[in-house]
Amino acid sequence: MKISSNKTSDVREYIKQRLEGMYPAEEIQSFTFMLFEAYCAMSKAQLLAEMRSTINESELLLVYDAVKALEKHRPIQYIIGKTTFYDLEFMVNEHVLIPRPETEELVAMIIKQNQHRSGLRILDIGTGSGCIAIALKKHIPNAEVTAIDISNEALAAAKYNGKQNNAYITFAEINILDEKQWNLLPSFDIIVSNPPYVMESEKELMQPNVLNYEPATALFVTDENPLLLYEAILRFAKHKAEGCKLYFEINENFGNDLFFLCQKNNFSEFCIVKDINGKDRFLSMQKS
Ligand code: GLN
Repeated sequence: MKISSNKTSDVREYIKQRLEGMYPAEEIQSFTFMLFEAYCAMSKAQLLAEMRSTINESELLLVYDAVKALEKHRPIQYIIGKTTFYDLEFMVNEHVLIPRPETEELVAMIIKQNQHRSGLRILDIGTGSGCIAIALKKHIPNAEVTAIDISNEALAAAKYNGKQNNAYITFAEINILDEKQWNLLPSFDIIVSNPPYVMESEKELMQPNVLNYEPATALFVTDENPLLLYEAILRFAKHKAEGCKLYFEINENFGNDLFFLCQKNNFSEFCIVKDINGKDRFLSMQKS
């Protein structure tokens, strides 16, 4: 099927027909609005009101290629190269996980509980696109925020996002599993992490848009040792940070295991919080 013309109404119809059956109708609608916004600088309102009745050849080509990529399940955020998180815009590419709505809930919880504290030092472990660190810095501006990741490419994306959002963050390439690197970091009042937590055996439940395109290192842990990163972060916190608060995003199946792990390590004031879908998704605690 070819696009029959460069009239916006025909282009919209073309997107719909090509993707029908592959995606729900509302998702196709939202893809359409995102593509027109990204490639034709037309907002949803402008598109609906047919402010422009046609798009030009190069815009048409971009839409055409995007539809082909969507047919191969490539996430729309990677296609247009950006997404919104906590009302901020983030550049995303295949080196970083696409920020999830659950993680916005984690950020909201941290802001709500800490926005009136001054001089906070915050560490984000496994920052990816930088979304958590940057959203926190924007909402708790007098905090000193440090963000680390093992991926140099992810850090490049996070640094770019920090600049674009005017958020001053200290970025460092550090592997929290490597205790020798802990000395490179100062101590902190808040440690937050959304580490990889999906088990290899859970792969079969996942969609091709995630499996084929998002970075596996940001998503998966082994079935043998699914809590490895949390264990390392707890050890780091014990070693480094007196009176520090910890906030984790977690695999919904591991709330209890993590609870016992933290208890065993002498953390207190645990709170397991459910996400909007009613699943155990966040764990906060205090290092006494
Ligand atoms: N919530 C993400 C997903 O299910 C996983 C995020 C993570 O591993 N930290 O795709």
